[in-house]
Amino acid sequence: MKRLRASLVLLATAFALVSCTTPVQPTRAELLVLISIDGFRWDYLQKYDAPTLKALAAGGVHATRLTPSFPSKTFPNHYTLVTGLYPAHHGIVSNWFYDPASGDTFGMSKPASNREERWWAAGEPVWITAEKQGVRSFCYFWPGSETENHGARPSRYKPFDNKVPAPQRVDELLGWLAGPAAERPRFCTLYFDLVDTIGHKYGPVAPETGAAVKEVDHNVARLLAGLTRLGLRDRTDLVIVSDHGMSEQGPDRVIFLEDLMKVSEVQVDSSGPVGGVRPKPGTITAAELAEQIRTKAPPQLHVWLRDESPARYHYRGNPRIPDVVLLADDHWNIESKVGWPNRMLTYSKGNHGWDPATPNMGALFLASGPSFRRGVEIPDVENIHLYNLLCAALGLKPAPNDGDDRLVRAALAQ
Ligand code: AMP
Ligand code: ZN
Ligand code: ZN
Repeated sequence: MKRLRASLVLLATAFALVSCTTPVQPTRAELLVLISIDGFRWDYLQKYDAPTLKALAAGGVHATRLTPSFPSKTFPNHYTLVTGLYPAHHGIVSNWFYDPASGDTFGMSKPASNREERWWAAGEPVWITAEKQGVRSFCYFWPGSETENHGARPSRYKPFDNKVPAPQRVDELLGWLAGPAAERPRFCTLYFDLVDTIGHKYGPVAPETGAAVKEVDHNVARLLAGLTRLGLRDRTDLVIVSDHGMSEQGPDRVIFLEDLMKVSEVQVDSSGPVGGVRPKPGTITAAELAEQIRTKAPPQLHVWLRDESPARYHYRGNPRIPDVVLLADDHWNIESKVGWPNRMLTYSKGNHGWDPATPNMGALFLASGPSFRRGVEIPDVENIHLYNLLCAALGLKPAPNDGDDRLVRAALAQ
């Protein structure tokens, strides 16, 4: 009897261990690779030469457009893709922003901002959801992957370095995957910045941008060949997304802050397609500032108090959002006159940040592999829904988020 009780205890312990270290449901694949091609506009797939991506889209699930969240910038959207939260809810409200609670400024290219948990802690990225449920994750670059998050981290990650050439990124990731099966991740990320960088420099419609698309496409093919060599190709899910699109801009379509307000009375948090200002203490109220700007604004400029921006942007409530939000129409920018004569000479030809509903801001979504349906085209879908799809494909219980199950229903194989 004693021995029976002891074996029952052992069995129960073993079961408890297994149930807290295995995914909620069995999954169809052994590996899911989430790839971001920064700045890949939804229509680049048709416009440019991308045979590998086209074949993956045709054989899997492809959305006409992935609609980014507001603002259509890199950091807010990469964190939305992996958390399912709008930027106002995950806290990375822009690439650069001021935080009144600490008096500090977050910056995408500040290594400390990328390492410090306090900026990122309101969101639970999918690699943390995975690790918390006993599923190993490796991140080869992704905003938010370099920080601890409530005591967890990806099993492996690499601090961002834009100088690492794309083939080296692929080969290093393949090297990580070539390790012993017990150490292999179930989920990993990979990131390419080339299409965004070239899109800024030459604009979305340029032979150079087409060449960048082709180059990244070759690198996706390189990854697939490597997965085949490792014997993983047929058991791998690929989800390929971008964070936003790209639109033309030029120094002739600019709205100057100095023509809208007394700049000595404000702190300028951001400029570009989306501007943000806060009145300095002891000057005017935010409502007065917004009114002042509205009376001088050209028709291409929209002005809101933080908590009165259009509900569809879900860009309210977080003190990291500036008191007064300025949004220019597609192609237009909000700029300062300081240093303008020089800056206008090197003004880039492409940009993003505008209203996510603008067709030019539309991003890429495709999913291919054993977990996904085959040959399915789905209509536009918001990027808040991706996190639930990733969790479903990985057999994870998602953390609370802003998305629902529409992408799971549309994309996951039954
Ligand atoms: P954007 O200014 O919105 O066009 O941002 C695009 C740039 O973000 C890319 O060119 C990268 O250099 C940079 N970037 C992307 N991922 C990261 C990261 N994890 N850490 C730091 N910078 C990044
Ligand atoms: Zn981007
Ligand atoms: Zn960009």
